[in-house]
Amino acid sequence: MEKILLLPGDGIGPEIVDQVKLILEKIQKLGLKFEIITMPIGGAGYDEHRNPLPDVTLEEAKKAKAIILGAVGSPQYDSLPKDMRPEQGLLQIRKHLELFANLRPAFVYDQLINSSTIRPEVIGGLDIIIVRELTGDIYFGKPRGRRVTKSGEAEAFDTMSYRESEIRRISKIAFEMARKRSKRVCSVDKANVLDTSMLWRELVSEIGRSYPDVDLSHMYVDNAGMQLVKDPKQFDVILTGNMFGDILSDQAAMLTGSIGMLPSASLNSSGIGLYEPVHGSAPDIAGKNKANPLAAILSMAMMFRYSFDRFDIAKAIENAVTGVLIKGYRTIDISEDDKKVIGTQEMGERIIDELSTV
Ligand code: NAD
Repeated sequence: MEKILLLPGDGIGPEIVDQVKLILEKIQKLGLKFEIITMPIGGAGYDEHRNPLPDVTLEEAKKAKAIILGAVGSPQYDSLPKDMRPEQGLLQIRKHLELFANLRPAFVYDQLINSSTIRPEVIGGLDIIIVRELTGDIYFGKPRGRRVTKSGEAEAFDTMSYRESEIRRISKIAFEMARKRSKRVCSVDKANVLDTSMLWRELVSEIGRSYPDVDLSHMYVDNAGMQLVKDPKQFDVILTGNMFGDILSDQAAMLTGSIGMLPSASLNSSGIGLYEPVHGSAPDIAGKNKANPLAAILSMAMMFRYSFDRFDIAKAIENAVTGVLIKGYRTIDISEDDKKVIGTQEMGERIIDELSTV
């Protein structure tokens, strides 16, 4: 039986993952067979095993078909040595599972359109996804470091590099994804200046020729930054490298205006995925039943779509989220004057009720 591993982590992580678990149990009752396991990571891993990624957690992660993570980090761990800090748990698990493809959708719900700082006519109906390469580029390139120049000045340097295989595998993910959407890929680079980007553009174009049904365009990253604010609906799938994707995915996320609503997925070449909300552990509201669980719940929908190929279940969860918003229920982070403010648990319950009707 396929295993789903839950990693609640720290802060609001356990509260929101509790809601995910209840929904998964509901889906199990509808007849889909999978096993749910829960393990510690981050600060919780340190508390139980003196390790932000305990061996037992890693072992289960390697056996799981999919992983859903809450969030890691809390001020109480800030004074620990770097290798014991909660975020190491997340970095290490991404590395061990070779999660090279990061998918970040930016979707605007009609009911939350006023949460954005951008005018409704610009973002209404927005539905884009950024496919970001996650394990290469300037964050991992060597050599890197600091030195003192002959004139005695401090100098720091990083290396931007991409190998052919890295570009090919992430490009295929983007083209496959486009086939399941509006069949458009815009590859973002800086090929007018960077050698890495010239290779990137060459290879993406070559792979694009094997997907004649997908419309491929290229854009320089500076222009992409502008276009995302000016006319974001021109995009469907944006394919880009690690550093450009880091920046553009946060920019695209904020077009929607609500951090508590944003899911993400990181996949490896065997389709194993780590699914997590974009937000952090929100220590300011942890344990107060105030956290919005919808980003985690929407991450679970992505899991059914990308790791289990169950588009029907993914859609049912997404429809349940829309249904609850239409009925006017909001957690405090997305509340408006005329709406009913409810807590984390109640939001989970509303989603389960809504799922019963689909
Ligand atoms: P954060 O995302 O945790 O919080 C930013 C703000 O958004 C806070 O005011 C918080 O209350 C609010 N918020 C976040 N998620 C929310 C939700 N689901 N519902 C309602 N409100 C929500 O970012 P931060 O404050 O910069 O970081 C806090 C901790 O989280 C730090 O320890 C940081 O290292 C960690 N962090 C973890 C991850 C991760 O696990 N992937 C990502 C980012 C930050």
